[in-house]
Amino acid sequence: MTALSQIRNFSIVAHIDHGKSTLADRLIQATNTVAERDMKAQMLDSMDIERERGITIKAQTVRINYTAKNGEDYVLNLIDTPGHVDFAYEVSRSMRAVEGSLLVVDSTQGVEAQTLANVYHAIDANHEIVPVFNKIDLPASDVSRVAEQVEDVIGIDASGAIAVSAKTGEGIVETLEAIVHQLPAPKGDPETPLRAMLVDSWYDSYLGVIVLVRIIDGKLRKGEKVKFISNGTIHHVERIGVFRPKMENVDELGPGEIGFMTASIKQVRDTRVGDTITHQKSEVTPLPGFKPAQPVVFCGLFPVDSALFEDLREAIDKLALNDASFSFEMESSAALGFGFRCGFLGLLHLEVIRDRIEREYDIDLITTAPSVVYHVHMRDNTMDELHNPADMPDMTLINHIEEPRIKATILVPDEYLGDVLKLCQDRRGIQSDLTYAGSRALVVYDLPLNEVVFDFYDRLKSVTKGYASFDYTLMGYREDALVKMSVLVNDEPVDALSMMVHRDRAEVRGRAMVEKLKDLIPRHMFKIPIQAAIGGKVIARETLSAMRKDVTAKCYGGDASRKRKLLDKQKAGKKKMRQFGSVNIPQEAFISALKMDN
Ligand code: GDP
Ligand code: MG
Repeated sequence: MTALSQIRNFSIVAHIDHGKSTLADRLIQATNTVAERDMKAQMLDSMDIERERGITIKAQTVRINYTAKNGEDYVLNLIDTPGHVDFAYEVSRSMRAVEGSLLVVDSTQGVEAQTLANVYHAIDANHEIVPVFNKIDLPASDVSRVAEQVEDVIGIDASGAIAVSAKTGEGIVETLEAIVHQLPAPKGDPETPLRAMLVDSWYDSYLGVIVLVRIIDGKLRKGEKVKFISNGTIHHVERIGVFRPKMENVDELGPGEIGFMTASIKQVRDTRVGDTITHQKSEVTPLPGFKPAQPVVFCGLFPVDSALFEDLREAIDKLALNDASFSFEMESSAALGFGFRCGFLGLLHLEVIRDRIEREYDIDLITTAPSVVYHVHMRDNTMDELHNPADMPDMTLINHIEEPRIKATILVPDEYLGDVLKLCQDRRGIQSDLTYAGSRALVVYDLPLNEVVFDFYDRLKSVTKGYASFDYTLMGYREDALVKMSVLVNDEPVDALSMMVHRDRAEVRGRAMVEKLKDLIPRHMFKIPIQAAIGGKVIARETLSAMRKDVTAKCYGGDASRKRKLLDKQKAGKKKMRQFGSVNIPQEAFISALKMDN
């Protein structure tokens, strides 16, 4: 057990690419935490997808021993938190597990939307914050301008800021000294009953679930029986230890310390982030702020090859073992066959899971349009949570529908401001603030989440040539004129293509959808109406004309080999068709029509 006065716990907050991972690597290296030969780029981002996208999905922790210039030995615990809005709750818990933050800002770029979102988490957690201005080796670095921005926009004192190059190592020792002298030591009582926060958990095929804990009060020892307060489960602690960053066993963890425990727990689902852990027989007050995981975005995942349904089930079962915030249930669709309706924390979370199924399990997927969770208030005063437009009750039974709204923060160079305002306005946004930070505008909008899950971020990037940064928080529910739009092919509704839309946006979406489908569905011997409708009312219509009988003869022009090739191609193509009533819809049509850009 380390004396409280010698412990410093901190996280690093930054906008993506401002150098968080590189700085963490330098801190680890400068303190000889990892032997030089074991040092590979980006120690902390361990999943492939995380490395590829430069994001952190799980909280990662490392314990660093540092002998300060004053000769004292310190234990520094760094928790690297996920930086994405989908994981805002996880971030807020990680922040509660430490007392301070390094606020890393790229001194060639300045403060960005994610910097703000993350620093507000740190401020909420009452952190002492040390600004670190990174990339001073680059000619475009302007430390005084960034310092001014941090003071103006965030409103924290930047006089103790440190100028750093995580690349060359300049300023790294100063950073370590600042951690020791500017950040507070944790508080806690070793003699009272155990209270520990469950900060994160993940599945390891050898050890079962590994639980990351921060001890608040009391001590945790190997062999003890502990209780998870939220669900009352009892576990026998098999191992406890710390990350350097490899796992290293210790005998006990005391107040202020951060480490792991294992207890033959089989599913991550049984360990909830933010939960309080105590001894089996102790009664303690739970730590504040605990919230069970709540999926925010839902979609259907169907195997392109319907023979792979059981494989998909297995893949999803395995992924769910390691991800408590991911929910799923079986779904069957007339158009797409058997699949799963899945719930995610947000779009990034959705993409990560989908990528992993496709890559790690080699199953090609059709993803239906992402949908948020609507609150459907019925005439009989009950309320249904709607996760799937296919489950929408009859309109005559509904009193009103509410949708989730977000507070979006966008930082954008002046010259693109007009385009950004127009985009937000088009997406049913309500402006709540507009201020300036240097030559950039800080725009705050109240927007419906369902308008953001449709390609908002891509549109924002394209209208601002990539110069805008964007972040959001969920605000709550509000009533609006929401309807279910159905798509009918040859007068049959295609369940997998239906979606919830705002009444005023329905025509635009419906038109885009039917036009797309007209191009994607091949001609048949009969003409096929393609329609978008709300209830019984058609709002957009295209007609795919019938194939003319003489077309075949004309276009083959008697060339036998060409004709055979074409027939072969058609045959191969047939396998990828879905029979829908008397119409064959190619697989591709679903994939393209459901792309998030309509
Ligand atoms: P993160 O997204 O905040 O974790 O950022 P990374 O640590 O992955 O860094 C983003 C990019 O900036 C990488 O290409 C780094 O090599 C580069 N980088 C980080 N720190 C510095 C620095 O001090 N100087 C320079 N020139 N490049 C840096
Ligand atoms: Mg990183």
